[in-house]
Amino acid sequence: MEEKIINVIFFGAPGAGKGTQAKKLSNKLTLPHIDTGNLIRKAISNGTELGQKAKQFVESGKLVPDDLIIDLIKERLNTLLESKLNGFILDGFPRTVPQADALHRMLGDLALKLTAVLNITAPKSLLIERLSSRRLCSNKNCGAIYNLISHKPKVENKCDICNTELYQRKDDSEEATKERLLEYQNKTAPLEKYYRDLNLICDIDGTKNENEVYNEIEQVLRILNAIAPIQK
Ligand SMILES: [Zn+2]
Repeated sequence: MEEKIINVIFFGAPGAGKGTQAKKLSNKLTLPHIDTGNLIRKAISNGTELGQKAKQFVESGKLVPDDLIIDLIKERLNTLLESKLNGFILDGFPRTVPQADALHRMLGDLALKLTAVLNITAPKSLLIERLSSRRLCSNKNCGAIYNLISHKPKVENKCDICNTELYQRKDDSEEATKERLLEYQNKTAPLEKYYRDLNLICDIDGTKNENEVYNEIEQVLRILNAIAPIQK
């Protein structure tokens, strides 16, 4: 089969389901999943200089400043380019117009081009409901994501995969959730226009269930000729 390069950004409010879908697409297409949330959390738990700076922002529900995130992404893309790169999935970046500009320059320098920006949409009430019921596996090597409404663990508060205890992220608390949605509206929503003007936005209905949303994503990538058509 012909090798295609897919460089996509997952875009959408917190709770829209970006992370879950990005992970799914990454597994299915063996594409590196660059999740800024994880990059940041890893830097925090490793106690790196960038991590220590990021910590105070994350815990108060604020966005980590652009220059910090850009440095983390740069590092990751450079590492990926040293191995064989068939594309990447960006999840949680860019979040602001300056970040998008920085990414644009970064990709230009690396001679890379974006395939699409997948915009997963859902109403605010659904976002709040989903966010405050999200639980994560505390095993760093697993990182499974659960939702007490739509994706319950089989045993209460235990990971289905590795049986480790689940936890709620500090930035998923109700207080932090409202703060995140407000920050999103103020800083990230203008990005939608930015990418729409570049004709890169593909809207995905994020109110549907996980598999339906995923199928829609594959469908979009097929239309863009980024993945092979279904064999009939
Ligand atoms: Zn687990």
